[in-house]
Amino acid sequence: MVERSGPPQEPGKEDKPKPWRAEGLPGTPGGKPKINWWRFVLTLLVVYAAFFFISSFFDDGKVEKISYTQFVAQVTAKNVKDVNAQGYSITGELKAAAQDPDSNNKSYTTFSTEIPVFVDNVQLMQQLSASGVDLTAEEINTGSRGILVNLLLSLLPIAILAGLWIWIMRRGASMMGGGGLGGLGKSKAAKPVEQAKVRVNFEDVAGIDEVENELVEIVDYLKEPGKYRRLGAKLPKGVLLAGPPGTGKTLLARAVAGEANVPFFSASASEFIEMIVGVGASRVRDLFEEARKVAPSIVFIDEIDAIGRARGGAGGIGGHDEREQTLNQILTEMDGFSGAEGTIVIGATNRPEVLDPALLRPGRFDRTVMVAPPDAKGRVAILEVHTRSVPLDGDVSLDQLAKTSPGMTGADLANLVNEAALLAAKRGKEKVSMADFADALEKLQLGTARSIIMPEEERTRTAYHEAGHALLGMLQPGADPVRKISIIPRGRALGVTLSTPDTDRYAYDYNYLRGRIIGALGGMAAEQVIYDVITTGAENDLEQVTMIARGMVGRWGMSEKIGPLTILSNDGSPPQAAPATLAAVDEEVRRIVDECYEAAVRLLSDNRDKLEAIVAALLEKETLDESEAYAAANLTRS
Ligand code: ADP
Ligand code: ZN
Ligand code: MG
Repeated sequence: MVERSGPPQEPGKEDKPKPWRAEGLPGTPGGKPKINWWRFVLTLLVVYAAFFFISSFFDDGKVEKISYTQFVAQVTAKNVKDVNAQGYSITGELKAAAQDPDSNNKSYTTFSTEIPVFVDNVQLMQQLSASGVDLTAEEINTGSRGILVNLLLSLLPIAILAGLWIWIMRRGASMMGGGGLGGLGKSKAAKPVEQAKVRVNFEDVAGIDEVENELVEIVDYLKEPGKYRRLGAKLPKGVLLAGPPGTGKTLLARAVAGEANVPFFSASASEFIEMIVGVGASRVRDLFEEARKVAPSIVFIDEIDAIGRARGGAGGIGGHDEREQTLNQILTEMDGFSGAEGTIVIGATNRPEVLDPALLRPGRFDRTVMVAPPDAKGRVAILEVHTRSVPLDGDVSLDQLAKTSPGMTGADLANLVNEAALLAAKRGKEKVSMADFADALEKLQLGTARSIIMPEEERTRTAYHEAGHALLGMLQPGADPVRKISIIPRGRALGVTLSTPDTDRYAYDYNYLRGRIIGALGGMAAEQVIYDVITTGAENDLEQVTMIARGMVGRWGMSEKIGPLTILSNDGSPPQAAPATLAAVDEEVRRIVDECYEAAVRLLSDNRDKLEAIVAALLEKETLDESEAYAAANLTRS
């Protein structure tokens, strides 16, 4: 196993549930109050019931419905005090309570009855006036409730049904969002808002000043949009941050919002997409709606390549239609800004090369900012930021740490500081010392040691394997210096050899790459020279060898026979070349690797004494650092 550059990449740090997060919103936590549909329906029901109750008061009281015969009997008995007629319906009051004809022990004074149409009204009239009844009449159809009340009562059931329907629709949508049954009753929690979260600003971002400077203008605009509007200046609607994971893209976006003190909405593009077509688009719409309400604000869309891939490109998540619709909705929202609203979209991606060109057109993400891993000076600055609240021992040199951690990103460095602090705490120390940092760095760069007892035979073979890598690294002019050799098993590897450059390297020449192939083959070659067998321990090495050799031939134009052509792409898409060319590429790759292997075997055979010396030192100490390794081989660093 041969390890070359930085430690394993730390996976993305934020993976909270969907659909988006916000910080810095004005007002109370939770932002805009949400309509509670349960309460809404309940209120409707209560109002409805109250209406019935009240109207029943007006209506009947203790009105007794009696037959016409009964009524006539009371009139004849001169017991009727007054009568109110509404068409053929009559209500009235008796002078003295009369016995209810239906039930013996009940009596009544107020009554209502209907006059049969065929009854001779004249006779009734005479009888009534003869007994001195107070007679009034009312217009037909005017109930005691009044038209308005009647209308309302008849409309209520429809209103309730409509309310119920809307509620179910809403809940259905939020259930899709909330993820199946888990979303049940969770509709209120659809927008988690971390109000208490500490906001970051440019103070917290270090080592990438040139990137920061590109964003200063945007901060200024968000702070004082009026200044720009008066001059008619148009700002980019979208800024795309492109760079490897852990370089601080999310941090930067948050810092822009924090610096300008505007609300920050963030979502990962993959969180928008569900299996149901249309859900993503509606989530995007909601997100932008919220953001515009509190403008000026920032909408941050992480991993935008998950939906922003060029159409027809390979891979991606969710259905094709769903991805496309979600992307289109984002584009529509961005097009929809008049620019005066002050909502700026920041996107982030690890792979800008796969993005749909439509995303990068003017008026959309029309500014791309590359965020690269920091250089040595940047690493010092980042370490300073992350050790602000860590008590450091006097011997700690951040410069030294920065020098020995090429290729590490901001996230790696933050992790390094944390690991060192954990180690110091575990060791019961008050301050973090350089030794803690060194051990933490080793753990990050080489992996965590496994406590397994290796059989002696295998331990020796591993020592030869690693010594082979290391010696070839030391012998090649221009190769990265060997920093550490270890035969302590870590992860899947039985041993590790670590080489890192003195300064950050950005481009590699033919001889350097050839040297790396030879070094990577060194383990296998050593086993061949000493034992004349090949073991499975070289699998990882061979993967690296193949990758470099194929790159040299198929991508970097380093083979004369193939010439300066890109035949193999780096995103795994099928090669663009005729079968004959592909065969030639394979042949060239094979030639390079074969030559390198021969060179490796020859170098090791010629320097067998040095190989044996390193092996002896390794078996004794298990881990050699840079000076110990060069001393054992009796070599000085070139
Ligand atoms: P990305 O989004 O590019 O993958 P992040 O912004 O999530 O990276 O970075 C993860 C963490 O690494 C940050 O929270 C921060 O602690 C640290 N970090 C990364 N870059 C920097 C930097 N330039 N300055 C300070 N800290 C950084
Ligand atoms: Zn190896
Ligand atoms: Mg990120």
